[in-house]
Amino acid sequence: MQGYILRIQKVKDEDLIVYILTNEHVVKSYRFYGARHAVIMMGYKIDFELISNTQFLPHLRNILHLGFSWLTDRDKLIIWQQFIRLLYDHLKDVDNVDEIYFNELDFCASRLLKQNAKRLILESYVRILEHEGRLHNEFECFLCDEVISSQVSLTRAFLPAHTHCISSYAFDLSKIKYLFEHKSTLYLEDDEIEQLYQILLDGF
Ligand SMILES: [Zn+2]
Repeated sequence: MQGYILRIQKVKDEDLIVYILTNEHVVKSYRFYGARHAVIMMGYKIDFELISNTQFLPHLRNILHLGFSWLTDRDKLIIWQQFIRLLYDHLKDVDNVDEIYFNELDFCASRLLKQNAKRLILESYVRILEHEGRLHNEFECFLCDEVISSQVSLTRAFLPAHTHCISSYAFDLSKIKYLFEHKSTLYLEDDEIEQLYQILLDGF
């Protein structure tokens, strides 16, 4: 089985509880301490086996780290782990998941070496919101219900509002429309990407 490590929680005697996102599940597993075990980290893609245990969590065995060359790029790794943390918070209480989450991680991981990490993850975030039916591309202000016609401000999960209604950063509406329609950050400047990324960090 393959999956991405969403979270590692230390328990007694250096044993670990490891949460892994596969294409179907969020697996909660137990790993006994072993000095010869490979080091694992949040965000790693691994191949693994689960040994079922009727008493407690399944045991995590035979872990193989499927590495990516960008993992040595500290800045990219930090952004990657921020996204992984958001996904953990979003998915931690569910067992069965749609494959989109795993596929989006695969998509981003395969492109991180050559592409801008924040842009990749912003585009992925928008695709996930759309898949969940939560992408508000009708551009009506969530506070006053009136149509937004020029500048738009965004809150958590990119919920749109008039800039004068929530008094936060004003984005050009046409650029945000393009992002929502095409899942592309092409027309956004780096400072706009930074603003969007800070909103993304509020979570799904
Ligand atoms: Zn408004």
